[in-house]
Amino acid sequence: MEKKLLSLIIPCYNEEESLPFLFDELTKVAEVLSERYRSEFIFVNDGSKDNTAKVLKHYAAVDERVKYITLSRNFGKEPAMYAGFCNADGDYVAVMDADMQDPPSLLPQMIDIIEQGEYDCVATRRVTRQGEPPVRSFFARLFYKLSNKMSETTIVDGARDFRLMKRQMVKAIVRMSEYNRFSKGIFSWVGFNTYWLQYENVERVAGKTKWSFWKLFLYAIDGFVDFSNAPLAISAIVGIIFTILAFIMVIFIIMRKLIFGDPVEGWPSMVCIIVFIGGIELFCIGIIGEYLSKIYLEVKNRPIYIIGDTNIDDAN
Ligand code: UDP
Ligand code: MG
Repeated sequence: MEKKLLSLIIPCYNEEESLPFLFDELTKVAEVLSERYRSEFIFVNDGSKDNTAKVLKHYAAVDERVKYITLSRNFGKEPAMYAGFCNADGDYVAVMDADMQDPPSLLPQMIDIIEQGEYDCVATRRVTRQGEPPVRSFFARLFYKLSNKMSETTIVDGARDFRLMKRQMVKAIVRMSEYNRFSKGIFSWVGFNTYWLQYENVERVAGKTKWSFWKLFLYAIDGFVDFSNAPLAISAIVGIIFTILAFIMVIFIIMRKLIFGDPVEGWPSMVCIIVFIGGIELFCIGIIGEYLSKIYLEVKNRPIYIIGDTNIDDAN
């Protein structure tokens, strides 16, 4: 019987320092699995500005399992992962970070779980957030709470992008060719039986995180907007409440005029109300604008990533 193929997708952005550690570890894990599986390592170089491209070329020259896809510029982790999915041939496909925060040593265990046949996918979640700034952990938790209230697509707290999937699930993800990509939502949306493997947080082996607080904040907003229409509904409801409130106030003012005459009073409170309503209006328009801009990007139908250089023959 032919051995099954295992594809490992690794998005890399300025990871020249982590890659040697990772490559070492991947080789070891592949060795352990080699009796039953062939492996391919698909490194997606997301427009790195350091020597990542060079390092990858070197690995590809010495090890034929190494495939690299260098994107024409930095597109972001989401497009990089998508480029990997589109070019992975494996019966089983896994995504993992280049910095070893997703321990490759978990792979044999993940494969065993899938092989038992009950699950289509093994996903991982961190049960601790050790080594992470407390403010970041707090907002991350808040995001998961809010997003699970607002959207029907559940996003598990602490879920990593690190997961192993059967071919069938990868096909489904490739079909989700939306421009605004939020993988944690996409993985959940496509369904399939998922086993959650828990592990303790591991700190990055070398190099620096690519996510500033601000970038994460914007990413969280993407998460809300891509998988929930609740913000639109909330803004509509706030609109209705204020209209009703305004009606009551009009009636109140007419009655007061009829009963007490017309003293010119209360303009400061009037200004406060106008500013308050104006603020809420702008906020709601902002929410609509957020969705509109997503539609705009989606309608333009631009490619999600562009390949600059690769050693995969029929890359697409
Ligand atoms: N990454 C990428 N493109 C980017 C940013 C990050 O391909 O624009 C990759 C990065 O090389 C790493 C993974 O995505 O393999 C996760 O990034 P990072 O470790 O910086 O995020 P963190 O683990 O701190 O959330
Ligand atoms: Mg990391």
